[in-house]
Amino acid sequence: MSIGRDTWMSDTRVLGNRQSGGDPSRPPVSTAEHIALAEARSAHNYAPLPVVIAEGEGAWVTDVEGRRHLDMLAGYSAMNFGHRNPDLLAAAHHQLDRVTLTSRAFYNDQFAPFVTALADLVGKERVLPMNTGAEAVETAIKVARRWAYDVKGVPDGQATIIVAGGNFHGRTTTIISFSSDPDAYGGFGPYTPGFRSVPYGDADAVAEAVDGTTAAVLVEPVQGEAGVIVPPADYLPRLRELCDRENVLLIADEVQAGLGRTGTVLACEHSGVVPDAYLFGKALGGGVVPVSAMVADESVLGVIHPGQHGSTFGGNPLAGAMGRTVVRMLKEGPYLENARRLGEVLSTRLKEFTGNGVVTARSIGLWAGIDVDPALATGREMCERLLQRGVLVKDTHGSTIRFSPPLVISEEDLNWGLDQLGAVLAELRAERA
Ligand SMILES: *Cc1c(COP(=O)(O)O)cnc(C)c1O
Repeated sequence: MSIGRDTWMSDTRVLGNRQSGGDPSRPPVSTAEHIALAEARSAHNYAPLPVVIAEGEGAWVTDVEGRRHLDMLAGYSAMNFGHRNPDLLAAAHHQLDRVTLTSRAFYNDQFAPFVTALADLVGKERVLPMNTGAEAVETAIKVARRWAYDVKGVPDGQATIIVAGGNFHGRTTTIISFSSDPDAYGGFGPYTPGFRSVPYGDADAVAEAVDGTTAAVLVEPVQGEAGVIVPPADYLPRLRELCDRENVLLIADEVQAGLGRTGTVLACEHSGVVPDAYLFGKALGGGVVPVSAMVADESVLGVIHPGQHGSTFGGNPLAGAMGRTVVRMLKEGPYLENARRLGEVLSTRLKEFTGNGVVTARSIGLWAGIDVDPALATGREMCERLLQRGVLVKDTHGSTIRFSPPLVISEEDLNWGLDQLGAVLAELRAERA
């Protein structure tokens, strides 16, 4: 359907004439009121762009003032299937009317279909479902350590895991212990030991870091938060060879890169590499509920026994219903094809901007990171200007902006969003000239 790009500035259908009229017992209705209250009463662990979203549909959201914005972030890939995707909503409604939470003390009828569908999708034997991406990563760390002791024979308490510089795997105390981002780890010690960080994309450095204590190499097949960094083509294949030779698990964190974003179910498919374990999150819950999982063969996940790991919410029926619907949609829907086709458009059009305010542009599938010329603007300033024009994106690491629109975006809307990027760059160049 065509959603009025031209009317995003003036569309007031959503807000109508509602006003809070200064009555503190009524919820805030204007953007300024929302932001003032949010900033006054929430922890400042984020610095959101000044837009308050009230509704979403497909690739578009509407703010509390009734303005429409093209969502080119899509919840950092959690919204791969678009806002309020009808198939996901139908599955959610159906499950809401039946049962939503049972705990793992009992089986629920969504559990077996979900774990079977997900395991089959990626060609592995077992699934350990959790909720957030960070929990999937924590699961992998525990499983890898346990595997090192029980299977590989590493002396107790000495297992190490090799990670990559610039990684983003989540925000728990253990995970930030091996982050290279001072904002993420600074001031939160003491840190969890047992990790060795080497430069991303450097298989030789991984080889040097491996020794008899190494349980696993944990890596993002494409680094998302770092700015959509695609490693050299031989990186994952060389890690695979090395891990086979050294009896080390290769664990791919596909939380952001997986489930369609790069035009394939798995980002690892681009290099033909099959890791020992996959970690999923974000899009796995269809943007409805948090669903994550570690997926691996019995030889790996078999080390975990009752009582050793779990979660009250992991594998709940609503999560299962969403997860198996996501798997079905990836297999049957147009999403992978869209990501591939529109990814071509994205990569071609980004070349227009390189040298015209954009220093470098990287992309894979429908996913791109651009580095804006710092002389022109900060990433934040770019995002604020794009917001003015009705495009939502988010900066990362100063001058980088990531584009990850929902895989349901139309070619026309994608082009329109990129036109806005071109317009902002032209405007800034004119101002700075
Ligand atoms: C977002 C992300 C995580 C953490 O997911 P949360 O649901 O925010 O805990 C882990 N790994 C990668 C690669 C991610 O992008």
